[in-house]
Amino acid sequence: MTDIEKVKEYLKSDDIVVAQIAPAVRVSIGEEFGLEPGTEVTKKIVSALRKLGFKYVFDTCFGADIVALEEAHEFKERIEHGGPFPLITSCCIGWKLYALKFFPDKMHQLSTCMAPQIATGALAKTYFAEKSGTDPEKIKMVSIMPCISKKKEAELHAEIGVCEINKVLTTREIAQLLKEKNVDLMKMDDSDFDEFLGEASQGGRKFGVTGGVAEAVVNTMFRLYGDNETSIKIEDDEEVGYYSFNVGGQEINVVRVFGLHNFVKVLKKIEEDNKNPDKKTYHLIEVMACPYGCLGGPGQPLPISMDKNKMRAKSLREYANKQTYTDPLSNPEIKKVYDTYLSAPGCRKSKDLLHIGCMICKIELDKLSNKNCDKKGD
Ligand code: SF4
Repeated sequence: MTDIEKVKEYLKSDDIVVAQIAPAVRVSIGEEFGLEPGTEVTKKIVSALRKLGFKYVFDTCFGADIVALEEAHEFKERIEHGGPFPLITSCCIGWKLYALKFFPDKMHQLSTCMAPQIATGALAKTYFAEKSGTDPEKIKMVSIMPCISKKKEAELHAEIGVCEINKVLTTREIAQLLKEKNVDLMKMDDSDFDEFLGEASQGGRKFGVTGGVAEAVVNTMFRLYGDNETSIKIEDDEEVGYYSFNVGGQEINVVRVFGLHNFVKVLKKIEEDNKNPDKKTYHLIEVMACPYGCLGGPGQPLPISMDKNKMRAKSLREYANKQTYTDPLSNPEIKKVYDTYLSAPGCRKSKDLLHIGCMICKIELDKLSNKNCDKKGD
């Protein structure tokens, strides 16, 4: 049975079927309905999903806000304890699977935070279920993602018994389902996301484009260090970018990179720089496997084109910058989760719910090392 067929089954069942939409999808799905690349149709997709029968529609950007805050908290702890540096972002599953295979020695540097789709799924089945009086056992979460590998990410969590996501459909797959059911995106009225997991800051909205995660984490760091005024933007489109910011009186060096071959180049540069007597510490690296980040993901409308990615990037940044909340800590919905459910970033409950990415890495590393042992045994 295909994933589309499975989702159709959910929609016919008595389950409470819930969708979440990744940031990159809202500026690309219009292409499947004849719109210009980069046309932002967030409110129309929400309506279209409701028309298909989804009871609630949530924003993955909300989960991205949570991830940015948890990751900034982790970053602050590393700064206060002298490392390990650089902290490497972990929300790109393509990069994570590549790192497991080729850079197992770097895994301890990856953030322990889960990806935004998993965080949104985890909070839907706990926080949302509790606050809305919904039976979590009845919730079926379907993620609409720009990425085929996000299916693998959901499966890895299910393998350890944490089923936050029941199915992942790519942008192309949801467009196929909408067309099959004669739901014309362009004829939809505008609708807002549902309450509890529906509001995101600029930071969360930009997770779909290169530089967005680093920008969100750095801006959250300013707030954690008591600076409520400073906000930076990382909005250039080069394959690799190097930046320095003064946070809490300390220079923070940040690298942003897309394309896994470019990550190897960055590592070489860091190694070279480490040989200099006045060696520089690189504190944070944002890695995205796809060109321009998730906007250029393998589940996005075809054909692949850098010009299209550029238009999607411009549009997603414009959409994000319209939001008044710059960072997760200025988003009242994020404040509400911590005030009424999680308590604080990095608390025990957050760790149990949102930081099990490291457990999955450990299991996968063990599998790899067992395979290697088997080979040696042969
Ligand atoms: S950058 Fe590409 S591989 Fe990584 S999560 Fe986004 S779409 Fe998937």
